[in-house]
Amino acid sequence: MKETPSTLAVLGAGGRMGQAVLDEGEREQHVLSMLAVFSPETQASQEGLRWSKARVAKDAATALSEVVSCGGAAIDFTTPEAAAHHALLAAKAGCPFVCGTTGLAEREMLSLRDASADCAVVYAANFSLGVATLAALVERAASLLSGDEFDAEIFEMHHRYKKDAPSGTALRLGEAVARGRGTRGGERRGERGGMREHGEVGYGVLRGGGIVGEHRVMFAGRDERITLGHESFSRALFATGAVKAALWACGQPPGFYSVADMLKISSSKELG
Ligand code: NAD
Repeated sequence: MKETPSTLAVLGAGGRMGQAVLDEGEREQHVLSMLAVFSPETQASQEGLRWSKARVAKDAATALSEVVSCGGAAIDFTTPEAAAHHALLAAKAGCPFVCGTTGLAEREMLSLRDASADCAVVYAANFSLGVATLAALVERAASLLSGDEFDAEIFEMHHRYKKDAPSGTALRLGEAVARGRGTRGGERRGERGGMREHGEVGYGVLRGGGIVGEHRVMFAGRDERITLGHESFSRALFATGAVKAALWACGQPPGFYSVADMLKISSSKELG
């Protein structure tokens, strides 16, 4: 993958992921400088920044046009509402836009899709290479187990602050199951009485402490069970993937891309 030295705008610089992206940009030699974009409600000062490559941007629109003039890209880890707004600003500026924010409603995802007509948009609910690989394996397993014998259930655990549930990654893994089975697939979120419906994918969610992220996909047959899983130890992992995606996006024409496109994992096109 060719990486050209670039300037990055980090949208959501005050958040857990924003800070991890700034840490990663500081380490990554292909990142020349960074513009830290904080929430409009935050009073951020240059003195408060611990990264030598970063400086505080006035606002998102200014940061995006500055980044475009240097041939750079923007990375967004904010909220669904802010991410949709930032996608529109990126389209207006023609700025490659990498978005890792999860929990987007359909209309917010549509803003990203619309933006991709004017700039490269890389969207991923999970920027880990391991999860991209897991989704490819899940799709393959689901295609091999596509008869009536095996039920697919997905389980995920995250830290106490996570807002959306099930996680975006769990939903993408569910889509990988459906692709493998060649169905659209029903889904069951949370518990309800009565028997499991045939062909549905169930989602189980647990929240607590500092768990960075754990996903398991279980194919349960009558007498045996296959479990595929992934565990994240640090959110630096997602930041590394997002910065790589941003450097990659700088060379891409307008379009909507996934981590799979970046990694050229062709069997799981929609994986994020
Ligand atoms: P967080 O709450 O710690 O950070 C979000 C930050 O965005 C906050 O500092 C908030 O002030 C800021 N923000 C809100 N509106 C803004 C605006 N208009 N402009 C600039 N900043 C704004 O959350 P987090 O743990 O950093 O996660 C952020 C998102 O990333 C969540 O949706 C989470 O699920 C997702 N996430 C994705 C991945 C991945 O690999 N794709 C990995 C981890 C987390």
